[in-house]
Amino acid sequence: MNSEKGQVIVISGPSGVGKSTICHRLCEILPAEFSVSVTTRRPRPGEAHARDYRYATGDEFERLREKGALLEWAEVYGHFYGTPLDTVQKAVSEGRIIILEIDIKGCLQVREKMPEAKTIFLLPPTPEEQKRRIEGRNTDAAEVIRQRLSKADGEIRYAMDCGCYDEFLINDDLDNSVSQIVGLVSAGTK
Ligand code: 5GP
Repeated sequence: MNSEKGQVIVISGPSGVGKSTICHRLCEILPAEFSVSVTTRRPRPGEAHARDYRYATGDEFERLREKGALLEWAEVYGHFYGTPLDTVQKAVSEGRIIILEIDIKGCLQVREKMPEAKTIFLLPPTPEEQKRRIEGRNTDAAEVIRQRLSKADGEIRYAMDCGCYDEFLINDDLDNSVSQIVGLVSAGTK
């Protein structure tokens, strides 16, 4: 895949670390576009189809996967998520920046197909702050929150060991995190 012209930015991190807020701020500032993933998860209150995700049934997702329409895909917390390939290809070939908010398994696949992608893993300042943020979002059931928080430690260790992230960034201040990422992207470093 030719990705010399545009730039693919991958943002990952455990639940409640502030990924979505950062991605949306980056899209306002850079300019960059957000890659809207396909998911079999049901919409949360306040989410909109085609803006936050493209919501699909299991069968629809499977069809997209089988016909090679996904750049990467993974099962995360019991649901399927994937990045539409055509949107990324179009952005890259037109010289635009596209931001993928995806998990570690997805990042490994992107890395393999697009080694020049810039990959960033966000870390919570403390586990307590992460818990506060995920609970404050008020959109997930207690059991879902418990499941996601219990996976955070393992996820962070996996991210550090897998070798697929260029940068690890502690998200203790939104403006600071955003400007650091803007700096990395602008420098085109890798
Ligand atoms: P959420 O359900 O909270 O929106 O997302 C759950 C997890 O799925 C997050 O870690 C998020 O980064 C990841 N995710 C969202 N979209 C994709 C995708 O297209 N591919 C992969 N591999 N992970 C995704």
